[in-house]
Amino acid sequence: MTHHLEKSANLSQKMLSQLDLEALCQIIGEHLVELVGCQSVGCMFFDADMESFADCLSAGKNQSTMEKLMADFADEPDLLELKDGEISEQSLKNGQPAFVMPFFDQDEESENELVACIVMSDFKKTPPQATEIKETLSQFEFCTALKNAFKHTELVRENERLRNSYDEIENKTSSLEEQTRRLIHDLTARDSIRTVHVERERLVYSISNTVRSSLRLQDVLESAVKLIGSNYSLNYCHLLHGNDFHSVVVYEYASTDLPSIKDSFLSEEGQLFTQYILSQKSPTHFDQNLIDSDPENYRFIKSLNLRSGLSVPIIMRDHVLGVLFLQDSAVFEDFSIDDISLIGSLADNLAPAIENAELHKEIETQAVTDGLTGVSNRRSFNDSLTREFDRAKRYNQELSLIVVDLDFLKKINDTYGHQTGDEAIKNIGTVLAASSRSTDITARYGGEEFCVLLPNTGAVMAVELAERLRRRINDCKIEGQDFSFNISASLGVSCFPIHADSADALFLRADEALYKAKQEGRNCVRVSNMGPDGIPLPAVTTEIASASPQTIGET
Ligand code: GH3
Ligand code: MG
Repeated sequence: MTHHLEKSANLSQKMLSQLDLEALCQIIGEHLVELVGCQSVGCMFFDADMESFADCLSAGKNQSTMEKLMADFADEPDLLELKDGEISEQSLKNGQPAFVMPFFDQDEESENELVACIVMSDFKKTPPQATEIKETLSQFEFCTALKNAFKHTELVRENERLRNSYDEIENKTSSLEEQTRRLIHDLTARDSIRTVHVERERLVYSISNTVRSSLRLQDVLESAVKLIGSNYSLNYCHLLHGNDFHSVVVYEYASTDLPSIKDSFLSEEGQLFTQYILSQKSPTHFDQNLIDSDPENYRFIKSLNLRSGLSVPIIMRDHVLGVLFLQDSAVFEDFSIDDISLIGSLADNLAPAIENAELHKEIETQAVTDGLTGVSNRRSFNDSLTREFDRAKRYNQELSLIVVDLDFLKKINDTYGHQTGDEAIKNIGTVLAASSRSTDITARYGGEEFCVLLPNTGAVMAVELAERLRRRINDCKIEGQDFSFNISASLGVSCFPIHADSADALFLRADEALYKAKQEGRNCVRVSNMGPDGIPLPAVTTEIASASPQTIGET
């Protein structure tokens, strides 16, 4: 008896200390073989909240059959009708008996709730009576052990559920935080993109404005490179103006602290590079990949040590007027598609400005130049005469004037045609332009009349020069298919202050001297002999004998 009590206490102790459902079922299985002779045992734990069996575990010989059995029982409402102390005796398909013994919670507040059922089958020999089984099992703490283990398992599961949902909440929170961070980043980026965009649009506007407001090409191009360079925080911005590398003019923007590299474009390699980018009709992006792909070809650009370069042609009516070349920026790594298209539209804005300024320059040049000979025209000469006369008077300097008139042009025209006459006029222009000093002003005054204004020059020197001019003119040979002749000219000289005290008078005196040269045989130089007051001066030797080749007048 003592032995039996001890055994019962040990088993109860063992069961009560086991809170794991599976292990508990194992212990129960092992002991029920010994206690009632069943070799397969099932433990069905009842979840009162769900009003169904939550866990069904098996132990012993025939566990898969036991599991099927428990699954059948779990669906059987009869089982739930069992009362405390009742054992349900089932007859299995193979005729073997199975016993289901329910355990009810004995605590007062739990109102006698079903805790679990133990299923027994596969009896070794003749199965005991239900009452016997009940008797045996009631000696052990099955009910408390089953209840505690199930409650513990439920708590562990609840704990697990809570931890999972906590993790889930934590994940959701951090993903929300990440989304918020990304949103703030996107908004800031979008904001700064918008700011950059507005700034760039302002740049296009301000360049277009500068371009419109100035006709001086140099001003336009200088401000364009500066505006682009500073707005894009570039290291360098160059504008190469011209359509071939021989005549290219380089405008430069260099970031503070960087030296000028303008001259490098004039080096041999620089010129080849310039020639290359001037031949391109669309932007070229010189990134590291491109430069590294052909180091030989991109030797010049490699020597600039840039990270990224962009050339954008300035085109007007399919004609390249120049090219913008941008190098590296402090604010961005590389030129984006947007940058390239914006700089493209800047170049489009510059194109008409360059064309206008070039046209303006041409018109300005045309306005002061004689189309046939390339020397100054009458209007420009009159301005120069007034200016130089005022200067001479102010600084008390001499100023001489030579008036040159081609001899017998009418005859040349009549004999050889107007074109030959033009040729003769052109020859005079060439001689005068080539023979005068840089300070002298040479102009075609009328049809075949030229003027040479000699600042800071007295009468003697002016006559010497006039004589030299006469000889050189007389050396000019006009040749046609069946003719050849030398031209000649007559020259009149006057000088401030000895002959005139005004610009008009200076011209008048030279013209009078020219008339005299004509009268006295042409192909000669005569100097005025009148004083500023119109009174003849004492005779001055001005006649210079000439041994000249045969001229048309003599033919
Ligand atoms: P002189 O030696 O006295 O100067 O005789 P000339 O024939 O040169 O002078 P004149 O004043 O009698 O005639 C000038 C002619 O020059 C008249 C005009 O038809 C011609 N002429 C004026 N301008 C041009 C021009 O641009 N080209 C040509 N081919 N002839 C011109
Ligand atoms: Mg003449």
